[in-house]
Amino acid sequence: MLRLGDLTIRYGTSVAVDSVDLQVATGEVVALLGPSGSGKTTLLRAIAGLERPSSGTIMWRDADMSAVPVHRRPFGMMFQDYALFPHLSVARNVAFGLEVTGADDVGEHVAESLRLVGLDGLEDRPITELSGGEQQRVAFARTLATRPELIMLDEPLGALDRELRTRLLGEMSDVFRRLGQTVIYVTHDQEEAFAVADTVAVLEDGRLIQSGSPDALWTAPKTEFVARFLGFPVVDITADGAHAETPWGALPCTLPTGRHRAALLPDAIAIGDDLAGTVVARSFVGGRWRATAQPQSGTALEVMVRNRPEIGSDIGISIDPDGWASVGQSRDDDTTEEVQA
Ligand code: ADP
Ligand code: MG
Repeated sequence: MLRLGDLTIRYGTSVAVDSVDLQVATGEVVALLGPSGSGKTTLLRAIAGLERPSSGTIMWRDADMSAVPVHRRPFGMMFQDYALFPHLSVARNVAFGLEVTGADDVGEHVAESLRLVGLDGLEDRPITELSGGEQQRVAFARTLATRPELIMLDEPLGALDRELRTRLLGEMSDVFRRLGQTVIYVTHDQEEAFAVADTVAVLEDGRLIQSGSPDALWTAPKTEFVARFLGFPVVDITADGAHAETPWGALPCTLPTGRHRAALLPDAIAIGDDLAGTVVARSFVGGRWRATAQPQSGTALEVMVRNRPEIGSDIGISIDPDGWASVGQSRDDDTTEEVQA
């Protein structure tokens, strides 16, 4: 188990990592999700021992890591740019970390790692003769080869096109499960985070804003930043006790009097009570759908839903007292779709 306690890393007067508390259980895959500049790489480098924390603790299996040098920490890191040696072969690249630590059976470990990533047979190939996807696999194999207790991957698919990313993400995920590997997976891509992780931890400006299962984040993002980052539309609502003024007109609701921001969260359980709109357009945005629904009066609404919305079906919105709005698809339409499928 990795335990970060109140970890802070400053560069001069700016704070790159701000009082982060985070736990990673053995065998758990945690995705560290945040936009560029949110402190993801700095946090990984501190865990690896490449960056000295300004304050706070890094504990591994209840042992304080602060005095443990980089090469003695039982961690493996895959860098964003892979950091491969172009003049060395595939096998020599994978062997590199093992040779540094003076491991036995280097050849065996190399062969096993290359098998795990599906590169057996390419041992003698120079790095310069590999595709981007193959280079990614070599970097991954090199990280696996020393059998680190914790693997940290810094945007491991960042440089690749979408199709390849999807395939390699599945392959890496399989390897993690097969090895029962403890992983911190850094990404700025929420779909990638949701696909790979048991727990998603969201960073904003160096602070850990929310950490939870993909489903927990999806159903209850804690802040407007998290909601927006996950792709949910956020709207202004003014409530006066009985009604709420929304972009689609006044709705009955029980929000406290005052101004609110509400994220439109897909619910897909039942159609909302407060407002319904008819679906006039839809587009698939990877893992879910964006629908345009036209209420009887007022502006069309843009919402995200889990299931493919039928043109002409209804989408409902209800606004919860906690300030979240939930978006529901009519259940009848879903049933019809299943029957037709
Ligand atoms: P991310 O990986 O999420 O894109 P980083 O951890 O690279 O974010 O950076 C977090 C913040 O720390 C940024 O504001 C960045 O400019 C700053 N930073 C990172 N490395 C250094 C450094 N060596 N010196 C000064 N500032 C740095
Ligand atoms: Mg980074």
